[in-house]
Amino acid sequence: MTRDQVLDRLKSVHDPEIPDLSIVEMGMVMAVSVTDDAIRVTLRPTYIGCPALDWIRIGVENALKPAAASVQFDMGAIWSASDITPEGKAKLQAFGIAPPQLDSQQVRCPQCGSENTRRTSQFGSTLCRSMYYCEHCQEPFEAWKTV
Ligand SMILES: [Zn+2]
Repeated sequence: MTRDQVLDRLKSVHDPEIPDLSIVEMGMVMAVSVTDDAIRVTLRPTYIGCPALDWIRIGVENALKPAAASVQFDMGAIWSASDITPEGKAKLQAFGIAPPQLDSQQVRCPQCGSENTRRTSQFGSTLCRSMYYCEHCQEPFEAWKTV
């Protein structure tokens, strides 16, 4: 298997907290090395507090079968919103979820782009999202917590 083929297969693996995007679109794949007898994948975790890492590791292993892959998380690597690929950001927008923003003071409404928003609840449908309300379109929406 080539490195590109590995990346292609990884596009079928999703973080359960963010099922809309693959781990490739999330920018979680830091390194892929392919040798004759081993595939090694290094991932950058998105949210330390989210118990999804095992799930993702198993997803990667399954996606690369029958090849044996070793998966490791670089816990020292800091993932940020800027690691999301442009395709990934466009998808998020289409799903109506505000991408995580580095400056978490003002979260932009994914529907109208207004910054006139306020947080209504710390937890949304998953632990990694918060609920917001847009004063401009008067609609609630979800935004990722910023790490
Ligand atoms: Zn709005």
